[in-house]
Amino acid sequence: MENDKQIGKWLTDMNLGYPLTIAGPCSAETKEQVLNTAHQIKGSKNNRVTIFRAGVWKPRTRPGGFEGVGAIALPWLQRVKRETGLMIAIEVANAKHVKLALEHDIDVLWIGARTTANPFAVQELADALQGTDKIVLIKNPVNPDLALWIGGVERIYKAGVQNLGVIHRGFSSYRKSHYRNQPNWQIPIDFKTQFPNIPMICDPSHICGRRDCIEKIGQTALDLQYDGMMIETHHDPDEAWSDANQQITPNVLHAIVKRLIVRAKTFKDKEYIVALELLRKKINETDKLLLQTLAERMQIVRKIGKVKKERNVAVLQTKRWNEVIKKMAKFASLAGLDVNFVTRLFKEVHQESIRHQEDIVNRE
Ligand code: PEP
Ligand code: MN
Repeated sequence: MENDKQIGKWLTDMNLGYPLTIAGPCSAETKEQVLNTAHQIKGSKNNRVTIFRAGVWKPRTRPGGFEGVGAIALPWLQRVKRETGLMIAIEVANAKHVKLALEHDIDVLWIGARTTANPFAVQELADALQGTDKIVLIKNPVNPDLALWIGGVERIYKAGVQNLGVIHRGFSSYRKSHYRNQPNWQIPIDFKTQFPNIPMICDPSHICGRRDCIEKIGQTALDLQYDGMMIETHHDPDEAWSDANQQITPNVLHAIVKRLIVRAKTFKDKEYIVALELLRKKINETDKLLLQTLAERMQIVRKIGKVKKERNVAVLQTKRWNEVIKKMAKFASLAGLDVNFVTRLFKEVHQESIRHQEDIVNRE
């Protein structure tokens, strides 16, 4: 799968010249809502949307929420395709959904975040999708688990599905946060590093959970060379039956897409190459110094471990650790560094220090 160039061919064959945009409502609600939204999307002279999305079966976290209108929406979507020429995407979560989607000639089938988290469900989908030439997009699992995401893609690939892509929709977290789902950008970057041929699409709507950060997340995705975006769009977002807070109107969508800046993959200019090379050399030297300093820190930590061992003192000293983290937060702001970043970094350093001391106390 790593080196299979065929996987992303469906997207290069579209020859868009700009990132792929998938847009449409969170849920198909009524025939009028679906057609109205689709025509408003397609009707604009600024339109860059290629694929129309709509959830037909909705995976709700708790029962009692709107669970989708079901198969009656499929003919509405066929009509959207006929009348607008947009391709159609829906979410599938079981073999019955796949069968109905294929019977109605749905072009793109996406696997939702809750489904990707369950290998039994993904395998059921893989068996039902066996050999299809439809495009299948796999959202990241709700939990931040790269292997589970890769595993989901592998199951679909092994079923002979060639036209694949993945969608980054953020990861749920118990912590209250600015985002509905934390972006954890490093996970999709790790995915992309391992599978550079698999198109990576960002879903700012489910990352943000609100309208006002969609553009910012979309721009970050483009800065990270994502291949496209999926944005929930509704002709009357405030009245949407699901995810009302994060849906935007077709007009707002077009304005956002127009404002987003697509970055060049690289630049051939000699001056740019020389300047970048020089700065990268400096980065390499700094990184080396960082690692040397960390290694020195761990040596001191091991000495402390020995002193503690001789007196049978516990490895974790909460008071001291609180002092360190407080001091570092203060240094961080003086040095112009982000306090949250430095706190996260020092928590990691502390974990590793504990591991070293455990090693001394229990083994040496
Ligand atoms: C959706 O796209 O409407 C959806 C339910 O997304 P997710 O699986 O990312 O929660
Ligand atoms: Mn939604």
